[in-house]
Amino acid sequence: MADYPLPELDNRTPLQVAHKPNIDSIAAKGRNGLLKTVPNGLNPGSDTAILSVLGYEPQKCCPGRGALEAAARGIRLKKHDIAFRCNLITEENSFLIDYSAGHITTKEAEKLIASLKEAFEKPTEIEFFSGLDYRHFLVLHNVPNANSIECVPPHDVIGSKITAVLPKTKSEETAKAVALLRKTILESKSVLSDHPINIARRKSGKHPGNMIWPWGGGGRPSMQSFMNKYGLKGAVISAVDLVKGIGIYTRMKVINVPGATGMYDTNYEGKAEAALKALEENDVVFVHVEAPDEAGHEKDHLKKVETIEDLDKRLLGKLLTGLKEPYAIAVLPDHPTPIPVGTHTRDPVPFAIRSPFLAPDGVQKFDEFSARNGSYGLVEQDSLMSLLLSSGKQGQKEGAPKPKNVPTRQGGQ
Ligand SMILES: [Zn+2]
Repeated sequence: MADYPLPELDNRTPLQVAHKPNIDSIAAKGRNGLLKTVPNGLNPGSDTAILSVLGYEPQKCCPGRGALEAAARGIRLKKHDIAFRCNLITEENSFLIDYSAGHITTKEAEKLIASLKEAFEKPTEIEFFSGLDYRHFLVLHNVPNANSIECVPPHDVIGSKITAVLPKTKSEETAKAVALLRKTILESKSVLSDHPINIARRKSGKHPGNMIWPWGGGGRPSMQSFMNKYGLKGAVISAVDLVKGIGIYTRMKVINVPGATGMYDTNYEGKAEAALKALEENDVVFVHVEAPDEAGHEKDHLKKVETIEDLDKRLLGKLLTGLKEPYAIAVLPDHPTPIPVGTHTRDPVPFAIRSPFLAPDGVQKFDEFSARNGSYGLVEQDSLMSLLLSSGKQGQKEGAPKPKNVPTRQGGQ
C-alpha cells in the first residue's frame, strides 16, 4: 500500500487518497509508527519484509524466496538443493520485456514447463516444477552454497539486455551451477519460442512465455517455529506461495481460501471469514493481501487506490464487525511498491496497532506521513510482533510514549 506523493494524485499518496474508514479507525483508536522491515544490506523482497513483520530476523534465517515458495507447492528440498523461482518471461530481440509473459495462465504454463522438463532434465542436476500462472520452480541439486549465486528478479530488469542480467557468481564453488543456469536460460528460448501455446498467444496479441528466468534461489531453511518463539498458535492466510512457505517453515497453520488469487479479483470477504474462523482455534492470524503490490508493479495509481479501498471495505470491514473484544490488531504494508518506481523499495512502512489496553496517540489517519507523528516513532524490523503482543496486556493506558527518531524524509532508493 505504501507509496510516494504522486503528481497524478495532486501530490498525495494512494493511502492518503483512498477512502478507507476501517484502516483509519485502527490508526485513530490505536498507536502509530514507522517500521523498517528491510534491514540494511538486504534486498527489499517480500520474504525479507514479511519475516521481519513476523519477528524473524531475515539476516539469520532468510533462505531465498525460491525455497519458501517451493514449500507451498509441496516441493521438499534436500541438503544441497537450491530452489529458484522460475518465471516464464517474454524475450524480444534479446531484451527482457515482460516478467510474467503477459500473466500467462497456469494451464498454458503447465504445458510449457512439461516441454522444459523433457528438454533439460537429462542431467540430474536440474529439475522443473510447475506452479501458478507465470510462477514456476527450478531446483538445482548438489550445490554447496546457495548464497553466492546472484540472480536478479525479472520485474527489476524489464527493458534490459538478457545477456547483461544473467545469473552470476564470484565463488568457485558455484561456478558450475551458474554456468548451467545461464546455458539453460538461453537454450530455453529454442524450446519455448515455437511451442504451440506460444504460437497461439502471439496470434491473439498476447506476450509469449518464450524464456525462463530463475531467481530468488535458496536452500532448505531452518526456522524456529512460531509456537516455540511466542508460545502462541499462529495461522497464515494468503494467496501467495511465498507467504504460505513462511507459514510452512514456521509451522503456522496455512489456510487456503477458495477464490484467493493474489490479484485484484481476490476473495476479500472469504479471507475475512477465514480469519474469523481461524481465531476460534489460533491466538494470532496473519492475513496477507497482494493486490496493492501488483498495482505498484503495474504503475497503476488508480488501481492501487481501488485495491486499498477493497481491502478496507471488503476484508477489514467484515473482519472488524466479526471480531469479539478484547482483541489487538495491527495493520501495515510489508514494503512500499511505489508507482513511480514500479518495484519494491526499502523505505520504512507506516503501521498502526489498536488494542483496548492502549491509549490512542492522536494520529487520525493511516498513511506514510501521519504515521511519522505516531508515538512509536521509527522502529526496527523485528519489533512489530513484540509491540503487538505486548499491546494485548493491561496497564498501558497511561503515558503514550513520545515519537522518537522519526526521519524527516523517507530514505529510500
Ligand atoms: Zn511485489
